[in-house]
Amino acid sequence: MADVLNPSESKAYDLAAIRQDFPVLSRTFYDKPLVYLDNGATTQKPKAVIDRIHRFYSEEYGTVRRGVYALSEGSTEAFAQTRETVKAFLNAAQSSEIVFTKGTTEAINLVAHSYGQPFIQAGDEVIVSAMEHHANIVPWQQVCLAKGATLKVIPMNERGELILEEYEKLLSPKTRVVAVNHVSNALGTINPIRRIIELAHQTGAVVFIDGAQGAPHLNVDVQALDCDFYAFSGHKIYGPTGVGVLYAKQAHLEAMVPYQTGGDMIETVTFEKTTFTQPPYKFEAGTPPIAQVVGLGAAIDYVNEVGLSAIAAHEHRLLKYATEQLNTVPGLSIIGTASMKAGLISFVLEAAHPLDIGTLLDHEAIAIRTGHHCAQPVMKRFNVPATARASFGMYNTFDEIDRLVAGLHKVIDMMG
Ligand SMILES: *Cc1c(COP(=O)(O)O)cnc(C)c1O
Repeated sequence: MADVLNPSESKAYDLAAIRQDFPVLSRTFYDKPLVYLDNGATTQKPKAVIDRIHRFYSEEYGTVRRGVYALSEGSTEAFAQTRETVKAFLNAAQSSEIVFTKGTTEAINLVAHSYGQPFIQAGDEVIVSAMEHHANIVPWQQVCLAKGATLKVIPMNERGELILEEYEKLLSPKTRVVAVNHVSNALGTINPIRRIIELAHQTGAVVFIDGAQGAPHLNVDVQALDCDFYAFSGHKIYGPTGVGVLYAKQAHLEAMVPYQTGGDMIETVTFEKTTFTQPPYKFEAGTPPIAQVVGLGAAIDYVNEVGLSAIAAHEHRLLKYATEQLNTVPGLSIIGTASMKAGLISFVLEAAHPLDIGTLLDHEAIAIRTGHHCAQPVMKRFNVPATARASFGMYNTFDEIDRLVAGLHKVIDMMG
């Protein structure tokens, strides 16, 4: 029955071909081939994205939504096409539910302000989790401070999993917003967001999902999840910096107040009164990052072509192998051992501070992240000042994990 199979499903994962698509992966440092394991911070770009941006600036660039001439109309069309691409990627009900921001951080600030302003009042509560990125803590903390609302925190267990029984106890009719990440950038935990959303909705709260580490690695269907908000960053999904996505249910966008005001988001302006245009434009004041949006469209097309399920399966094999191999390194402890994890491993070594690990690995041309990963409460919870973190992307190989492990042995030898 091979002929009824979707060819993309039966296609083998062609890792060598994928690596060929990413020019930077052929670079060497200190005469050694680069091992790039900092995909949780940002991802490298395939030629399809680089070429698309180059062609756009070389041949097609003009402003959007204004000009009546061909260049502007073409740019407007390319810009609008990415909105359709993102709509399909997240399975949103309509493209007006897709707002372009400059990244996840801006998307969170937008929702905290634009939803918080009208809907969070004194005495209300906002719930975040103990494993949030600072970007999904501070904006909520600020809106709570401004409104006299209270921030509550879902605790996690020693494996780095949210404790849902404790979450249920925090929920009450006072809860306005629950803001949690899909996947933790510090621990790799995949959170049970469907259940988190369901429970929040039972008490009438809305849910914001920080998908910065979710969308690049897992299939997301915002309608099936029934989430109110979902955000991700272009640069973490093989696209450009300077662009991100906020998905929000249409009804919320209509009820929210603008985040920024200015050109392109107004209907009429007089010095007495301004009326605002419809979503998504109401939330896209000023000239948008046009080429970045077009580049994001190319990145999502590329991810779709490889197939997110195939990418997720490959990254899961890497995670499994790396976990086994890292556990053989003397004095190494993995921080975050949830049963559901994405391709990201935080660890500490007895023999060396994370910063030393990172510096010494750099001399092996291995790029990992060290530090608190913008998640200081997570570090505190696990009683570590910092961790080293290896995070995988679609192009990483088993050989690269062997190089990481060999590099760590070298670190131990040097520090001992
Ligand atoms: C990277 C990240 C952010 C912030 O994304 P920016 O692109 O820096 O705006 C927020 N949350 C998580 C979980 C992240 O990994």
